[in-house]
Amino acid sequence: MNLVLFGPPAAGKGTQAKRLVEERGLIQLSTGDMLRAARAAGTELGQQVAEIMDTGQLVSDEIVIALIEEQLENNPNAAGFIFDGFPRTVAQAEALDASLKARGQKVDCVVRLCVEDESIMTRITKRFEEQGRTDDNPATFKKRLDAYHKNTAPLLPYYSAQGKLTEVNGMADIETVAGAVARVLDTHGNGKAEKPKSFWARLFGG
Ligand code: AMP
Repeated sequence: MNLVLFGPPAAGKGTQAKRLVEERGLIQLSTGDMLRAARAAGTELGQQVAEIMDTGQLVSDEIVIALIEEQLENNPNAAGFIFDGFPRTVAQAEALDASLKARGQKVDCVVRLCVEDESIMTRITKRFEEQGRTDDNPATFKKRLDAYHKNTAPLLPYYSAQGKLTEVNGMADIETVAGAVARVLDTHGNGKAEKPKSFWARLFGG
């Protein structure tokens, strides 16, 4: 079971992803977390993306696709993945489809956490006070929200055309949202993973 958690920044994707990791044994792949880890470790990649992230822009497709590709490669026996904050552009979504297809897998469902911009701005002010993430400061966050509307929202028709998109009210409390997400997963099989296909099954079908 491969799930894309979709929604604007601060919609609650990370919170819901972490619950699914615990409850269903799926692996969370958050490109935002990976990039922050690279920065904290002071790697070349971290230095390369620091300014882009701090100004609320999107890192290049090439970089984030490579990060995801590496994780898929490193976890061949995963029960399934939760993509959190990825894909954020149509090019990323196409690359993800191709990459999963090459492994005999696919995106099974896309859950959109719907939260209005005003609520997001209220949430983010609180998160900024609590966690002090540089890119959560109101001016930068506004840019992140703009990038979502400009580059990421166009993915909705992409997944909707494939019949994979389900919308969930992300304004409700965490438990209620978790219940709604669980119902979506349960209608796509049992919400647990199909085992990735073996090399031979991929080669010869089945
Ligand atoms: P997030 O924590 O998911 O909101 O990501 C924080 C920042 O990392 C974003 O504002 C972008 O600068 C960068 N980033 C994370 N994921 C992506 C992605 N899939 N594509 C481009 N940039 C990303």
